[in-house]
Amino acid sequence: MGEDNRVTRVLKRRIGESGPIRVSEFMEIALSDPEGGYYATRDPFGVAGDFTTAPEISQVFGELLGLWCADSWQAMGAPDRFALVEFGPGRGTLMADTLRAMAVAPACRAAAEIHLVETSPVLRGMQERTLAGVPVTWHTGTPETGDLPLLCLANEFLDALPVEQYVRNGGAWFERRVDHDRDAGTFRFVTGPAADGLGLPEAHDIPDGEIFERAPAVEAVVAAIAGRIARCGGAALFVDYGYTGRAIGETLQAVLAHQPVDTLADPGNCDLTAHVNFRAVRATAEAAGAGCHGTVDQGVFLERLGIRARAQTLLRSATPEQQRDISAAVTRLIGPAEMGTLLKVLAISHPGIDRLAGFEPAS
Ligand code: SAH
Repeated sequence: MGEDNRVTRVLKRRIGESGPIRVSEFMEIALSDPEGGYYATRDPFGVAGDFTTAPEISQVFGELLGLWCADSWQAMGAPDRFALVEFGPGRGTLMADTLRAMAVAPACRAAAEIHLVETSPVLRGMQERTLAGVPVTWHTGTPETGDLPLLCLANEFLDALPVEQYVRNGGAWFERRVDHDRDAGTFRFVTGPAADGLGLPEAHDIPDGEIFERAPAVEAVVAAIAGRIARCGGAALFVDYGYTGRAIGETLQAVLAHQPVDTLADPGNCDLTAHVNFRAVRATAEAAGAGCHGTVDQGVFLERLGIRARAQTLLRSATPEQQRDISAAVTRLIGPAEMGTLLKVLAISHPGIDRLAGFEPAS
């Protein structure tokens, strides 16, 4: 067996000192430990990496989001300054494509002050290169932008934030924790203390062993954005793997080289995500005074924003090989068996905005 990586050493020490840790703590250290965390140490995207995201599949994705921003800016009353904030910008590809497309509305582009929220030094370096020449301010948390109205973008950001897990046992919920089995040398799930008074879902038919997930980190960032938008104006777009129905069942998963792997087997080396509970996101945004739009499936959203017409334009000036690539990319983004239905889109806005591109009137 090889030597433990830094994340495994940190996790073992933490468990050795204070006993089994929360699933959220395991996820946070595995992804974001400043020295050894998964995101802190690598570029995870693309064929040679672990997973591929929409902006890395096609420039069309970011371009359509740029048009969405320009349209939303109009709906905000065309402010002469606003903060364009992207959370979890990856390689910076989405922001680059968004800004290029947004330039069809030069007054909107000129009004945008760019802010990126990123904790990984490696990815921040890539964003600096991708966006060379564009004035950008980086942050590690929700930026302080005074009274400026906001437009926020977050693609596959919320699913990277840590979740807590609870496990059903004998008609009650208990915390699910992660322990280190010294004999086997592996991490394993254990049942922790009773989780009373947390308002977890109750029903007599929840079977033993069932898992419930809660994401306080998602709620905190959504509450901060929604509160700011309710006060200063604007809108935010969240695109992610997620669900709107009954929030019972485990969605935490690990991926390495495009394959699912054991969630606890290789912390720091594989991506860990949990699907987003969009019902909880909506409730949080509404409680903070914002309006909600959606969710809609990514495929429906991109079709409403005109993905087919944009693809046609690109196809006209493409070589046969490029044409095949463009068609395959569009199918991947909107295809019902692919990202088109797996990813959902939710927007939140100032309550005075009742219509945003890609959504039916506010619901
Ligand atoms: N939006 C990009 C990347 C998605 S991956 C794309 O679609 O390609 C998740 C991104 O969120 C990475 O950039 C990761 O470093 C960042 N991230 C993860 N946890 C974060 C946190 N707590 N705060 C800020 N950024 C975070």
